[in-house]
Amino acid sequence: MSALLDLVRPDLRDFAGYKSARSEALRGDVWLNANESAWANPADAQGHSRRYPDPQPPALRARLADVYGVGPDQLLIGRGSDEAIDLLVRALCVPGQDAIVVTPPVFGMYVVCARLQGARIIQVPLVDGDAGLAADLDAIGEAALGQGAKLVFLCSPSNPAGSAIPLDGIVALAGALEGRALVVVDEAYGEFADGASATTLLDAHANVVVLRTLSKAHALAAARIGVVIGDTELIAVLQRCQAPYPVPTPCAELALAGLSDPALAQTRERVAVVRRERERLLYALGGLPGVRRVYPSQGNYLLVRFDDPGRAFRALLSAGVVVRDQRAAPQLGDALRITIGSPEQNDRVIAALDAREQAA
Ligand SMILES: *Cc1c(COP(=O)(O)O)cnc(C)c1O
Repeated sequence: MSALLDLVRPDLRDFAGYKSARSEALRGDVWLNANESAWANPADAQGHSRRYPDPQPPALRARLADVYGVGPDQLLIGRGSDEAIDLLVRALCVPGQDAIVVTPPVFGMYVVCARLQGARIIQVPLVDGDAGLAADLDAIGEAALGQGAKLVFLCSPSNPAGSAIPLDGIVALAGALEGRALVVVDEAYGEFADGASATTLLDAHANVVVLRTLSKAHALAAARIGVVIGDTELIAVLQRCQAPYPVPTPCAELALAGLSDPALAQTRERVAVVRRERERLLYALGGLPGVRRVYPSQGNYLLVRFDDPGRAFRALLSAGVVVRDQRAAPQLGDALRITIGSPEQNDRVIAALDAREQAA
């Protein structure tokens, strides 16, 4: 067993999980082993949903592996990357004993999953500097080693801060935590970023895993398809902890169609529009009275500080624009997070926040 698997909960290392009807290697042309219906539902025109799906639909797994530049067995498909976060915490953290590191203000699911598992939560806040709100990698490494964390969640690009973590920093952290902790790089917004993916580090650093999703740039949030990418043995462990049939057939078919060559070409076009609009909005909002600071962003959103954030939130709402109120988040008592919309939608954001237009 590799040193990496020593990070898995001892009681789960040889856990076999549920043996579903689809996971047994049997042959036949009359399948009467899973209590499925012999006839299709009339709503299921193609009859694709009569049977339980393959736990990891091979065509989708192969396509995702292709898109992310890894091997199919380095990747596990789940119900969004949210499920991947949950699987990692459950498989590695002994309740009441092990810990995770998070970097607030950050995406909330890491802490939700840790609390559900009874794992300790170690917080290493982002540091607000000239370049934006950035992860303090030295402090993260020290906290993880000093307080015995099993998992370090890095969000890059960071939601909601917008900053990305340079790969050489992730390499150094993974090196420092080798044999001690897994470094999880959540790249939910990776398509919108300038830099390369942390998947390029996997061959050299077994204790790095990467999360990707079809929910953001690929415009398929309702399909609930996300992946965890990492060491093949670790992926096999995570799969044994997963629900028996995690990928519904209609979702797998939609995802596969959404990753066709023409669909991917359109995704790249949408991403280019978002990146252009992100710069336009950054500049426009930065010039408005009442805006304290707009953080540069590598994602499809901007984090904005206001003199009077409540007033800005209400001005947007009365223009019919709903944004994310960040005021309850640490360090963000004056901030809103605004998703980059279509050019017309972004014009409405600018108009609603422009006090001169409101006065007119
Ligand atoms: C949106 C988001 C996710 C969740 O993605 P799903 O694949 O839809 O579960 C994960 N991480 C971050 C940072 C996100 O912002």
